[in-house]
Amino acid sequence: MDFEHGISAIDTGFFRPQFDASHLIVENGRAAFVDTGTNYSVPRLLAELEAKRLPVEAVDYVILTHVHLDHAGGAGLLMQQLPNARAVIHPRGVRHMVDPSALIAGATAVYGVDEVRASYGDLVPIPAERIVTANDGHRVDLAGRELLCIDTPGHARHHICIWDARSRAFFTGDTFGLSYREFDTDQGAFILPTSTPVQFEPEALHASIDRMLGFEPQQMFLTHYSRVTGVERLAADLHESIDAMVAIARVHAHDNARHARIAHDLGELFVTRSQAHGCALDAERVRELLAMDIELNTQGLEVWLEKQSKQ
Ligand SMILES: [Zn+2]
Repeated sequence: MDFEHGISAIDTGFFRPQFDASHLIVENGRAAFVDTGTNYSVPRLLAELEAKRLPVEAVDYVILTHVHLDHAGGAGLLMQQLPNARAVIHPRGVRHMVDPSALIAGATAVYGVDEVRASYGDLVPIPAERIVTANDGHRVDLAGRELLCIDTPGHARHHICIWDARSRAFFTGDTFGLSYREFDTDQGAFILPTSTPVQFEPEALHASIDRMLGFEPQQMFLTHYSRVTGVERLAADLHESIDAMVAIARVHAHDNARHARIAHDLGELFVTRSQAHGCALDAERVRELLAMDIELNTQGLEVWLEKQSKQ
């Protein structure tokens, strides 16, 4: 899917169609990927270059918003095919791409051994000398087009969002939530936050969203899934939902059936909000489309609760 300003979205094929996007930014014959999907996505990314008649030598950067495997799992394998590319990564994410063993262990804790192997394959490390560390304010120069990396904790503490002044857009990874195209209505996109384990921090997430709004973006490119507009309304929706999610977690904090109750209430929350938005999907279909996100959001809220209780 091609947008203006040399931006296109590639469906990585991870999990289901229109679930997980990689974005390609092209400027004067030079290119940058933002997020890569998994190892299994690499042929799709290379096919997009070919379709655009861009040689693999034309890719200068592979920018990773963060190192969760649906965003970065294919980065090492992709880099092997791109002789001139450097990987741009948050300082807290760098060591995980040089040595992915902790990422695999983390994903295994969330998804289990079989699921990790089937979904992600064997992770390929990125040589340290091919990595550029993106501290807050780092500027990537793509053939003269500036891409500004800002530190955006809240979903993960190793997360950057990338500001492209040319398109007045952020590439938001998971910091600006999830918005699946099945939920679009005449009112626009429906959006929900993601609190995937293990670094959900609600206050930081609120602040990161507000910081991005300060740039007055006209559009956001989400990994899940691609472009949304009407950014101010979406930000307000995210703020409300973050607060609602935290309230749900707190209500069930000491419940024996905590996991099931939080998951149930999150389902209710997103069904109610999607219907208020005018989505024609019935409640069962909403729960089905969001099943994995509800499970991950529940796990992330539980990790957050555990950390709160230790403070
Ligand atoms: Zn993530």
